[in-house]
Amino acid sequence: MQEHTPPEETQVLIIGFGPAGATLAALLGRFGIDTLVIDKNHEILPMPRAIALDNEALRVLQMVGLDEQAFARLPISQVNMLSPLLGRFANANTRGSLDGHPKLVTFYQPELEQALRKQVTTYPCVQFHGGWELLNLRQDADGVQALMRDTNGVERLVMAKHLVGADGASSRVRSLIGEDFQGKTYAEDWLIVDAKQRQGAAIDHVEFICDPRRSVPHMPAPGGRERWEFMLKPGETREEMENPAKITALMAPWAAGQKLDIERTAVYRFHARCCRHFSKGRVFLAGDAAHITPPFVGQGLVAGLRDVANLAWKLAWVNKGYAAPKILLSYDQERRPHAWKMIQLARFMGHLIMTRNSLSALIIHGLMKLIRGIAPLRRHLEELKIKPTNRFAQGLFVCRSRSDQCDHGAQLTQNWVRWQKQIQLSDDVLGSRLLMLGFGCNPQTLLSPAIHQRWAAAGGEYLQIGMQGESAVAEDLSNQLSAPFTQARVLVVRPDKVIMADAAPEDATLMLEQCLALLV
Ligand SMILES: Cc1cc2nc3c(=O)[nH]c(=O)nc-3n(C[C@H](O)[C@H](O)[C@H](O)COP(=O)(O)OP(=O)(O)OC[C@H]3O[C@@H](n4cnc5c(N)ncnc54)[C@H](O)[C@@H]3O)c2cc1C
Repeated sequence: MQEHTPPEETQVLIIGFGPAGATLAALLGRFGIDTLVIDKNHEILPMPRAIALDNEALRVLQMVGLDEQAFARLPISQVNMLSPLLGRFANANTRGSLDGHPKLVTFYQPELEQALRKQVTTYPCVQFHGGWELLNLRQDADGVQALMRDTNGVERLVMAKHLVGADGASSRVRSLIGEDFQGKTYAEDWLIVDAKQRQGAAIDHVEFICDPRRSVPHMPAPGGRERWEFMLKPGETREEMENPAKITALMAPWAAGQKLDIERTAVYRFHARCCRHFSKGRVFLAGDAAHITPPFVGQGLVAGLRDVANLAWKLAWVNKGYAAPKILLSYDQERRPHAWKMIQLARFMGHLIMTRNSLSALIIHGLMKLIRGIAPLRRHLEELKIKPTNRFAQGLFVCRSRSDQCDHGAQLTQNWVRWQKQIQLSDDVLGSRLLMLGFGCNPQTLLSPAIHQRWAAAGGEYLQIGMQGESAVAEDLSNQLSAPFTQARVLVVRPDKVIMADAAPEDATLMLEQCLALLV
């Protein structure tokens, strides 16, 4: 097949059109950045992979423009840990929503990837070329030169201002910039089985059957699907486990004598690994290219989505000339520590729940059951307080001080607002903009023409948010956005909804000066 020839030049070149690369492409498309995406394959990978997303991931997908109609989601209200001897010894309450989205949903990864690819096609500034594989790259002060080859052996050089390796766990970009994964490879292999239509018997929650003889996480997914993950015992091989007769035997407890509609199966060895740096010069790593985690807390793709939400606007701001290239250094600074914390949490959960030793299992699960009797500890576990918050210790925000009323480096909460007579989620009103928000004041009127001009040159805009009842401005319908403030306040919020600074209205100029010093 003759492959279409990619252009010779682009602002951003993305290697890999998996979910991380496609999300980044769609975000860059929103910002109007000239983007080329290549993938060695034309089609999406058909393997059984991600199944769960949290509210933060759904918020990133909201930024991309994917709503509930774009791909099916099944809200999950409960995650139960079960022991064959002790029954339910722990659980997480995932009912309800946070920042406008369910705390936990399951989904079908190929459907999400199709939706992302469809969204990418709506931006004329983004081009996708399938059947092209990255071979090599070289960077200098002007840009990155990438050598690629199509399926017929035709080679092409492409010049880009920036290159992002979203090329998965075996990333070539990672090795070409001299990076390597640090961390552990698990000795455990797992068989993943996705099946459909269990005749109304599918469960409505997630359960981890923590049997030291063979642990089995089990969960439902949209479209009448369910997933089982079977830990391999020592001596069991991939070939043996992927044999249909073996799968039928493993699934027997759930099949109730019926023949199950097995959709996909695969054996994986999980890894808990992360790069030492997520970028080198003009080259960036995102998604599985930068970090890989066992799926016990469902955070692999979620971390990739956090990466690209963080990186996209920074690439856009630099390529539009709004900000200096130095802001790109904050990508590694902000994303790597959190990605590593999530990997550690997944490892911890794996050890805690999936232990193979019967005595250790009894002790660990017994202790966890006892902890349920201590209300504060139970709440800590049940309400997912052990999940690391997405709040940066260092990065592209004004240093925290005692007078702040907001958490700089954390995400602004999301809530319902009325804007231009429509009730909408606040992120949709804020849009992909760098904003100075005024709570109880009109931010623009606080500034001199000179600082206003400098703010506009950095791509800065304004939005006034009013309390419930103030319908002339964006009306905070539940007063949740304004909740931290007792008096009028101004804030700077980045396009990825991270709070950069806050101040009293009389200090608005100083606050913008500080933000401009970080950006320009
Ligand atoms: C069993 C299992 C369960 C999981 N469960 C969850 C979960 O519940 N929640 C969650 O968040 N995550 C989960 N994950 C992780 C999640 O699936 C991955 O993190 C995610 O799919 C990675 O996306 P990516 O875009 O970074 O990489 P990939 O999807 O691997 O995409 C990389 C792309 O790059 C292309 N490519 C590679 N090399 C080149 C090259 N040299 N040139 C051109 N193209 C190239 C490939 O063809 C591919 O299309 C799970 C994973 C597994 C295996």
